[in-house]
Amino acid sequence: MRDPKDELSELESLGLRRNLRKLDSPQGRLVRLADGKECFNFSSNDYLGLANDDRLIAAFQENLARYGVGSGASRLVCGTQSPHLELESQLADFKGSEAALTFSSGFATATGVISGLCDKSDIVILDKLSHASLIDGSRLSGAKMRIFPHNDLDKLESHLQWAVEKVDANGRILLVTESIFSMDGDLAPLAEIVALKEKYGALLLLDEAHAFGVIGPQGRGLAAELGLEDRIDLQMGTFSKAAGLSGGYLCASRSLVDLMVNRARSFIYSTAPSPALAATIFNAINLIGGSDGDSLRRKLWTNISSLDSSATSAILPIIIGENAEALAASNSLLEDDFLVPAIRYPTVPRGTARLRVTLSAAHEEEEIAMLKSALSKWV
Ligand SMILES: *Cc1c(COP(=O)(O)O)cnc(C)c1O
Repeated sequence: MRDPKDELSELESLGLRRNLRKLDSPQGRLVRLADGKECFNFSSNDYLGLANDDRLIAAFQENLARYGVGSGASRLVCGTQSPHLELESQLADFKGSEAALTFSSGFATATGVISGLCDKSDIVILDKLSHASLIDGSRLSGAKMRIFPHNDLDKLESHLQWAVEKVDANGRILLVTESIFSMDGDLAPLAEIVALKEKYGALLLLDEAHAFGVIGPQGRGLAAELGLEDRIDLQMGTFSKAAGLSGGYLCASRSLVDLMVNRARSFIYSTAPSPALAATIFNAINLIGGSDGDSLRRKLWTNISSLDSSATSAILPIIIGENAEALAASNSLLEDDFLVPAIRYPTVPRGTARLRVTLSAAHEEEEIAMLKSALSKWV
């Protein structure tokens, strides 16, 4: 039998071993490492700086006092508490969909929804750079899978043509993409993708994980920015990034949402998130969608353009290539007091190891200017 120690040393020798880094502070602009060193945090997806926001901390405390800490069981077993239902109805309004369903994470949303929606008589077509949760959900479904090169509309169209020929009479064709890609920070050509999915009668699942709270009117995402919300069958996302908390959501038609209540195993067989968390996500969405959210987004976008005026999202990758070099770059930035992670295979394709800089509304101009000069060695 193979020994886990051998597997770990192989990872080590390839520059692919991952280790957990202990932080001794809340999330924020500055974080304290275990050795007491403080550094500027350019590594989180807490784009609006809400993970340690005073208003949300106070709301969470109130919600804990009102609803308790735990939910007791799956929502189908123990009854659904009102904060979950209120959150889902708020979210459906916010995203302009008929209904919404929440999950314990974005990962659980993707795996539950895709495998709940598709089976072996179906075809799932994914962008090559789709998040692991979307790939795993597709694999779990047993559907035939086709991958198109990142944002390649011609290849996507030829997969759709193939799928229409091949799919069972009752089968589904599900097209899956993201609005902002998590490791590249670029956008999907969403209007063209929607036109193609309509031309071939496919369903579209759009993962707005990195767009929710960040782009579009009220931070409603790329679909809202382009006025495409009502032409996308399944919009999903997470509360773990700009909303500063954790959890995932699906916005879709009432019948698709009801079907997921019956089919999505990550929903059915998992304890509901804490009702206090659901109530605090409700508070976070009110904040994100209101004028406070607008000023946080303005600050975020000012910060983004002061680091890179051509950036289209809060994610700025600096491709290095080799794993060891990306790790060395990340370590050297840490010596300069910047926490910027090295992202390696299998999170990104081999040979494209990179620094992934993420910006937040919590950053100040000084540290962005200092980071910019520290990064000049690699760009
Ligand atoms: C982060 C992410 C997820 C997972 O969301 P979690 O709430 O962190 O589990 C899913 N899809 C994409 C594109 C992501 O970036």
